[in-house]
Amino acid sequence: MSAASKADKPAAAQTMPSGTTSGTPQVLLAHHLKQLKLPTILREYDKVAREAAREGIDHAAYLLRLVELELIDRERRVVERRIRQARFPAVKSLDTFDFTAIPSLNKMLVLELARCEYILRRDNIIALGNSGTGKTHVGLSLGLAACQKGFSVAFTTAAGLVHQLMEARDERRLLKLQRDLAGVKLLIIDELGYVPLSTTGAELLFEVFSQRYERGSTIVTSNLPFEEWTSVFGAERLTGALLDRLTHHVHILSMNGESYRLAQSARRHRPVGAGEGPPEEVVDLSTGEITPA
Ligand code: ADP
Ligand code: MG
Repeated sequence: MSAASKADKPAAAQTMPSGTTSGTPQVLLAHHLKQLKLPTILREYDKVAREAAREGIDHAAYLLRLVELELIDRERRVVERRIRQARFPAVKSLDTFDFTAIPSLNKMLVLELARCEYILRRDNIIALGNSGTGKTHVGLSLGLAACQKGFSVAFTTAAGLVHQLMEARDERRLLKLQRDLAGVKLLIIDELGYVPLSTTGAELLFEVFSQRYERGSTIVTSNLPFEEWTSVFGAERLTGALLDRLTHHVHILSMNGESYRLAQSARRHRPVGAGEGPPEEVVDLSTGEITPA
């Protein structure tokens, strides 16, 4: 809490009232519970006390119930904080992922990875496939699972990360950013390969992989097969060294298939049922172009 917001509070809220009319047990209890950072007990103790009286449970069981409520709430708050810190562009989970839409993807492997044991082994994951096949969705889902299992997570795109690194270098805070990036348990780098990188950008990104090597897990999604990574990083030697580190302990998710987005929009524009006349619009699945029939 800042000094200013403390100063705004009346003196009674800061110091323990003693011997005043406000010194009733409830006021003191509220004060102490706030100080101990037990907001759930503060919110629930009265209601749970009435339940306990009704059910005739003893003091220890009453206290246990309150402490359990606080613990459950605290765990939820911690997970929420981790999700905020991960900076996901959207919160997605595997519950909403339709595995039948992408037969090339090994469902059992993805479900196993969602248990997050690979993070303890510091393994990496690379999801490869054309656009719209759910790579970002799977990345976000694995990121969410990691937050729920208690790991620190950071989500970024390759272009965004390079931009951040260049900016940090210009502002002479590159070391701090590199340290932060090396410290996170799971780093998700989305969309490697969409934009070619400058020489400096490629080197800075390489350093991130290097510093994370065997220290933390990294998920990379890319629309490019490995053979074409050199075109992103520019230098063949750099790409080789990077792939060497990234693929030492790696799980490859092969995600080539029909674009889910295009398939969905094609479905929306298709008439319901057969024999109801010609379609009003035709969607070209390779280009996404919609033309009147
Ligand atoms: P990619 O990153 O491979 O280009 P996205 O993950 O961005 O693809 O997927 C595009 C959109 O389609 C997203 O809204 C995503 O949630 C959805 N999507 C893709 N594949 C599936 C799937 N198999 N089941 C459910 N939604 C999917
Ligand atoms: Mg994507």
